[in-house]
Order: sequence, then structure tokens, then C-alpha cells
Amino acid sequence: MSGADSRKDLRVPNVRAAIIPVTPFQQNCTLLWCEKTGKAAVIDPGGDLDRIRDAIAQSGAAVEKIILTHGHIDHAAGAAELREELGVAIEGPHQADDFLLKRLAEQGQAYGIPARPVTPDRWLNEGHTVTVGDLVLDVLHCPGHSPGSVVLVSKAERFAIVGDVIFQGSVGRVDLPGGDGKALIRSIKDKLLPLGDDIAFICGHGPMSTIGQERQTNPFLLGEGLL
Ligand SMILES: [Zn+2]
Ligand SMILES: [Zn+2]
Repeated sequence: MSGADSRKDLRVPNVRAAIIPVTPFQQNCTLLWCEKTGKAAVIDPGGDLDRIRDAIAQSGAAVEKIILTHGHIDHAAGAAELREELGVAIEGPHQADDFLLKRLAEQGQAYGIPARPVTPDRWLNEGHTVTVGDLVLDVLHCPGHSPGSVVLVSKAERFAIVGDVIFQGSVGRVDLPGGDGKALIRSIKDKLLPLGDDIAFICGHGPMSTIGQERQTNPFLLGEGLL
């Protein structure tokens, strides 16, 4: 997934991503790597670790960290086990999702998914950056789907990892603990739409999209009273 043509400031020649749908929720676990350095991050290892291990092996990349966009089970349930196995740190989400990460084992029992509670090595907040090799991702705190959801944006490569904040043609559900519909729309409107129409994004479920496509067609952003 290479970015658009406006690459004046680009220091990273290329970024690669492999999407690995995991768990019964078909969550898009993403292996993201910097081609120049061969360093990678596993984003949202919700489960099915065998499939994630296969993707890592196929990529030939060296995983240097795990990143969590938020604390829901389909995104975070495998994080503790994978951290132990790979000996890497977990970065994210925002600390407001700590209550979800602490409850993962109970959630796992409820959904029939193997899950362990996890405490990240680094909480993320607005204005932080996360690196993957030479790639620099800016952190946006985007509450609403969960209180601690974060979005990661590469301004140089013109793409974002948005978790369950926004999808192609939809937005994250807000009926789970800590969900807030108004906050979600505000996060999208105030933080994501201004990033620019050309920004492509990988979301937590379903196909990729762009900010422009969603700005123009997403029914949750077009409804009266939302914007
Ligand atoms: Zn979620
Ligand atoms: Zn999800």
C-alpha cells in the first residue's frame, strides 16, 4: 500500500501491510512493516495466533512491537500471549480502555474466545507518535466506540489504521461499555475528516476505504444532526 504522489517529505520508501482476519468477528489483524528496515508491528492480535505467526513468517519481517487500537476482545485477546512469545512491547491503546483490557478473560469466556487480560507497556495519547522501523505514525485519541480508541496516521505515506472508529459505509458500534455515539461522530468529524480525502485506511472489520469516500458516502456522516 504505497501512498499518493505528494511524497516530498517521505523518508520511508515503502510500507507493506498484510491483513489477517482473526476471531469469529473477522477482525482485521494487520501486520504492518517498513520495507527499508524490515521492522514490523502486529496491530490488534485478537486471536488465531497461528495465522498471525504464518503471516509474520511469510513477510520475512522482524516484529518489533504490538500495537492495540482499543481494548475489545476481537482486537486484544491474543496480545498477552503474543507479547510473551515474541518478547516485544505492547503500545496502545489510550488508558481509558484499561477497564476493557482487564476484563478480557471474562469476556473471552462469554464469547468462547481464548483471552488473557493485558496491560500495555505504553499507553498512547493524542500527540504521541509510534514508530515501526522508519515509519512514523501519529496518534489520535478518538473516543466513542470505546473510550480509549486510538487512530494511527502516517502523514507521509497517507494512510491510517482506524480500528473500529470508522468502516467502509459504517461507524463503530456505541452500545458496548463506555460507548458514546456523540463522541464517536465528533472524533470522526474533528480528527479524521480533516486528515484529507486521499488518506486510505485499514479498519477493524471489512474492506479498506478512504477518508474522501466516507466523507462523501458514509450514511452515518451524512445524516442530519450529525454534522
Ligand atoms: Zn471494537
Ligand atoms: Zn472489532
